Amino acid sequence: MRSLFALQLPELLLVSVWLMARILIVEDEARLAALLRRGLEAEGYVTDVAKDGFEGELLADENTYDALIVDWRLPKQDGKTLIEHHRASGKSTPVLMLTALDDVEHRVAGLDAGADDYLTKPFSFEELLARLRALLRRPQGFERSTLYREGELVMNRERREVTWKGEILRLRPKEYALLELLLSNKDLVISRTTIAEKVWGSIVYVTDNVIDVTVSSLRQKIKDIVTGDTTGITIDTVRGVGYRLRGADSE
Ligand code: CA
Repeated sequence: MRSLFALQLPELLLVSVWLMARILIVEDEARLAALLRRGLEAEGYVTDVAKDGFEGELLADENTYDALIVDWRLPKQDGKTLIEHHRASGKSTPVLMLTALDDVEHRVAGLDAGADDYLTKPFSFEELLARLRALLRRPQGFERSTLYREGELVMNRERREVTWKGEILRLRPKEYALLELLLSNKDLVISRTTIAEKVWGSIVYVTDNVIDVTVSSLRQKIKDIVTGDTTGITIDTVRGVGYRLRGADSE
């Protein structure tokens, strides 16, 4: 068994490269921003929230997001300008624009500025999710693997679905996110801090107990479905460090 310290640099990079889909919400209406954040996190996304156009541009510049949700009317700098600056800096992050203005002129201006899609307020959260999924499916500069296979276990990241021998595994959003993180970093030890950050989006509010409970429940679900058969997948506890997923072919 290797310790975390024995990991080679490329492996450590891989650990930091595989993230849950990370979304930046730029919205000045506090209630709407909070609703979006809560809703998206319940779906397993990791989110950041910016309250004005400057903060949004700063965060979008400094971090890598899988998608941006940008309100049109924002303090300090409007959403259209933010999107123009973002595109001018060479970034191709998909952008979903929110607007309260239901007229053709603004929609066209938003799309011209570089938004990929728009939603007119008020909108249903389900519709926002559907639009977001569609945006995340579009290929960006690099290919993102949408399928993970580990023996008979298949994770379809596009559909956010996990199957075992064709049967759907019923996972809660955090269990799915955890499995995705471990599966995409197979055989590598993932620290509790990384798990808290990538799965819960915070290292501050997540206790070790919450992580342990989620791991136990995930282990149970991977085991349950097989009944007599073996998935060949195990999630090892690496004492004092974190967890590691191993497949049937792992040494
Ligand atoms: Ca606004």
